[in-house]
Amino acid sequence: MAAPSPISSTDVAIVLVAAGRGLRVGGPLPKQYAMLAGLPLLAHTIEALAFLGAPIQPVIGPEDASLFDAVLATLPSSTRALCRLPVIGGHTRQASVFAGLEALQTGTQKIVLIHDGARCHPSAELLSRAVASARQYGAALPGLAVSDTIKQIDTQGFVAQTQERATLRAVQTPQSFIYSLIYAAHQNAAQKKIANLSDDGAVAEWAGHRVHVFPGEATNLKVTEASDFAVMERLMSVDLSDIRVGQGYDVHAFGPGDHVWLGGVKIPHSHALVGHSDADVLLHALTDAILGALANGDIGSHFPPSDPKWKGAASDQFLRHAVELVRSRGGMIAHLDSTLICEAPKVGPHRESIRAKIAQICSLPLDRIAVKATTSEGLGFTGRSEGLAAMALATIRLPYSPT
Ligand code: MG
Repeated sequence: MAAPSPISSTDVAIVLVAAGRGLRVGGPLPKQYAMLAGLPLLAHTIEALAFLGAPIQPVIGPEDASLFDAVLATLPSSTRALCRLPVIGGHTRQASVFAGLEALQTGTQKIVLIHDGARCHPSAELLSRAVASARQYGAALPGLAVSDTIKQIDTQGFVAQTQERATLRAVQTPQSFIYSLIYAAHQNAAQKKIANLSDDGAVAEWAGHRVHVFPGEATNLKVTEASDFAVMERLMSVDLSDIRVGQGYDVHAFGPGDHVWLGGVKIPHSHALVGHSDADVLLHALTDAILGALANGDIGSHFPPSDPKWKGAASDQFLRHAVELVRSRGGMIAHLDSTLICEAPKVGPHRESIRAKIAQICSLPLDRIAVKATTSEGLGFTGRSEGLAAMALATIRLPYSPT
């Protein structure tokens, strides 16, 4: 499915509401920071919103600054550049949205989209409809027809009224507005101490505006329960059905020195590895494995050794670049496997810190990173300790495109 071409969104801004404390069932984190298909939920949301190329104003919880920074670190730099500094939300969703709208006051936007951090899968079409509807109607909400009959009940649990189903809509986000209209409505509600209006559509209604409902999307789920995570992962794995494996191999020779770099970890040794950069064979092999899976050249074509810029360079930036290339195509890294081949240094004592470092560089969970080591039983150049070799495999998942 070809993505629709971006609509004009130079006068659009987005308030991203992520200040909630809702915990994923069984998890220690607010749900917007829980992992979904290898990335924090909120990272998926921001990547989806980035389609519009509009500034994003995050609103986060008072204790979540470092969690949010970790989300930013997983994003391609072009997406990260869209995110303004987060502001801290209030005690209610309504107060949090108002904080985001206030922070945008210095912006030049005419249109604002207000979106829940926990809806991580709005399509490009939905975002485009939201922008177009705000331009046409001033205040607009995505809504789904309701397939269940809705009953209103009394305090004893008896039916008080049956709603006419055909006229009902379950509304979602992004809700879209003329910025000045919704800002004034929120400001007015705050001044009159009207709190706990359940969504921004209700704020606009309270202020007396006509609010249009445009078609929402069944796949634009609000991820709330543990079971929603599973549903969403299934939905997204259908999107990422182009599964590829790439391999990488690297060798560096031993020379004078007292430490080697392996997987971004400094390990004391009787020799160093010789190379133009820091000679981290493991990170080089992993970088090549990812580039191989992308069919996008090799480490030498992205970072030519002839360029003095890379002399003595820390190799984590090479790997980070390869990871960004995957993410910028809307893909994810499913797994990184690697083998170091040397007689010494002993890798075992450093294996877990190497895994943790690679996980950190790639913004991946630890269980997607494998590091193994073997000797070559004294045979060949690795057996004679003339050099150290590394092999790597990267399994990546990209959105399927039929071209
Ligand atoms: Mg190398």
